Amino acid sequence: MLSVEEAQERVLREIAVLGSERVVFTEASGRILREDVLAPHDIPRSDNTAMDGYAVLASDVAGATPENPVSLRVIDELAAGSLSGRGVSAGTAMRIMTGALMPAGADTVVQVELTDGGRESVRIFQPLGKGSNIRRGGEDMKRGSIVLPVGTILRAGEIGVLASVQKSVVSVGRRPTVAILSTGDEIVDIDQPVLPGKVVNSNSYSLAALVREAGAIPRMIGIVPDRKDATVAAIESALESDFVMSSGGVSVGAYDFVKEALEMLGADFKFWKVSMKPGKPLVVASLRDRLFFGLPGNPVACMVSFHLFIGPSIRKAMGASVDDLLLPIVEMKLGEPLRSKGDRRAYQRVRVVARSGELVAIPMQAQGSGVSTSMIGANGLAVVDEGVLSLEAGHIVRVVMLGPVHGE
Ligand code: AMP
Ligand code: MG
Repeated sequence: MLSVEEAQERVLREIAVLGSERVVFTEASGRILREDVLAPHDIPRSDNTAMDGYAVLASDVAGATPENPVSLRVIDELAAGSLSGRGVSAGTAMRIMTGALMPAGADTVVQVELTDGGRESVRIFQPLGKGSNIRRGGEDMKRGSIVLPVGTILRAGEIGVLASVQKSVVSVGRRPTVAILSTGDEIVDIDQPVLPGKVVNSNSYSLAALVREAGAIPRMIGIVPDRKDATVAAIESALESDFVMSSGGVSVGAYDFVKEALEMLGADFKFWKVSMKPGKPLVVASLRDRLFFGLPGNPVACMVSFHLFIGPSIRKAMGASVDDLLLPIVEMKLGEPLRSKGDRRAYQRVRVVARSGELVAIPMQAQGSGVSTSMIGANGLAVVDEGVLSLEAGHIVRVVMLGPVHGE
């Protein structure tokens, strides 16, 4: 059976990067940059003060001490954003506020805390090295340098930099559309009565949320009954989306029609089983230039398969750089013991917390692939290798990180 790593490689090989579109930068959060963004000029434009204080010549204050302060004549006052027509020369100082450009002649800023704060003249109690408290022009961004390269995921810090370089419209990867269909005669939608034997459709909604979190656009196709003709029709109607996902109907049950329906449509199968738990049945096939993911019906298996295969595919399609495709894997201690069946590699849901300065993985109590509440608060999947039946607390495990770490 295919390993998860091989399956991931095969899936990502199939993914083409979609086209780009231009969006207003305030709407670009979570999108992936498709052009290099350059600094049009030095930022800051020129040297300015990092402190409120006095612009001076370092040589003037070289001998200053608390007992024998140096006294300088204050020739002007400079607020951030304003300029002075005057220059600082030996024996003089200019009162200056954080962010104001350095006046001509001055080479150092003495912070106000090291002075008496005088207005007409100022007494300085300490010497400072030449260049102290000055932010240099171009220190943040050099004119012509690439500040945000192609493939960057745009988040708050990047949006701030776009504003700084006045890049109000940016080219970003198009968001793929992802069709979601849920198969199963037992599945009813959230507004329908739940008669005996019926199960409420949760997969469509958890998958739609995952699609959105990955930056793509979900298209709800709805519930498909366990009949071959209905499955064929539903898959066909979903093919206008960039990707198609289904849940359920990929096992070996008498009413599992997804594979047969794909065969009828002439799909090219990449694989249909991966050595993992939960989520062994996973159909990946290409069909009329689209990639089809047939996920297992069990809610947890469905979500785990999404994290390992579909999230990375969406990121690749949007143009993310190769290091940003698969979720990061971090080694950490187990906070509590865990058990596994050992028949396949398991991906056990854990809560990763920061405990005394270390990351610790706490396994969820129930690990059955139908226990959807085991996904609540799960921000990691502990990788438990085939053949391993139990691990003690304190054992180092590899954890696929699904989200940010919580405090305990
Ligand atoms: P299947 O893979 O079709 O054999 O489905 C396995 C199990 O997953 C079924 O017994 C259902 O209880 C559950 N299941 C299937 N589809 C859904 C769904 N859309 N929402 C919630 N549970 C589902
Ligand atoms: Mg089913």
